[in-house]
Amino acid sequence: MSHHWGYDPDNGPEHWHKDFPIAKGNRQSPVDIDTKAAAHDPKLKPLSICYEQATSKRIVNNGHAFNVEFDDSQDTAVSGNMSSVRILKKKRKKSPKFLETTFLSIFWALAHVSVMMDCRPSEPPPHVFILQRKKCMLKEGPLADTYRLIQFHFHWGSCDGQGSEHTVDKKKYSAELHLVHWNTKYGAFSKAVQQPDGLAVLGVFLKVGDAKPGLQKVVDVLASIKTKGKSAAFTDFDPRGLLPSSLDYWTYPGSLTTPPLLECVTWIVLREPISVSSEQMTKFRQLSFSGEGEAEKPMVDNWRPAQPLKGRQVRASFQ
Ligand SMILES: [Zn+2]
Repeated sequence: MSHHWGYDPDNGPEHWHKDFPIAKGNRQSPVDIDTKAAAHDPKLKPLSICYEQATSKRIVNNGHAFNVEFDDSQDTAVSGNMSSVRILKKKRKKSPKFLETTFLSIFWALAHVSVMMDCRPSEPPPHVFILQRKKCMLKEGPLADTYRLIQFHFHWGSCDGQGSEHTVDKKKYSAELHLVHWNTKYGAFSKAVQQPDGLAVLGVFLKVGDAKPGLQKVVDVLASIKTKGKSAAFTDFDPRGLLPSSLDYWTYPGSLTTPPLLECVTWIVLREPISVSSEQMTKFRQLSFSGEGEAEKPMVDNWRPAQPLKGRQVRASFQ
């Protein structure tokens, strides 16, 4: 490649293997989901999505797409009661394992200081608390561990007839949302991407129809990050507003769909698409791949086409 990777004819997906040879690897993404071949696996559990509010931080145009970034920092373990608390441990790397192995039953305090009752293990011990900021977690489903949301982004087309990365019986949707989570047992995103079970990406298809109210806050900020390198504060966004009503899913082992294409992803692709309006989709297409002051290049068709399955099985959570 004469220059950095992208989606143009001269630096697009067909060229990526030159700088990133794993592009021709054995578990690359996306794939076509053949619904007849995707067998129902009764051992697959329902997904547990524990998305609390208030951890989104920033939205950034990275020249390939835009990312909504979340606070994925680690937790703070505290002992004592709520009137006198003592910080036991605040450690980025060891925290999750430390928590799991040391406190067999813990009382999860989800707010900054206030104690909330959802998402906690069943038996709170008397004098141990975990104080943590609100965090977005994904677990269960096909996953053996707990995964924390770090960012979400989309891939979309130049027209409504294309844009998704995964396809269903070769059908392309207009866009695809990727909610990216990393396995907390690895302590950090940068470590997790080096592991075969490091990431869990929740994929949601977008079709054009009625507007998605939960998407509008994203749409409205895009004009302020039109060009590559621009970012804006983006707090208190609730990603639950981007999900469909059903959490039925397909799952398979795969990769990042952009360089470095690391084979670290458990893909969880929801069967039910969300509907967005034509006006909402148009605002995506008004972003630019290029930087301020450069010739404008509309940010469209930032999707990688389906890759060979190479013997992998896609499993379905539903009959
Ligand atoms: Zn993606």
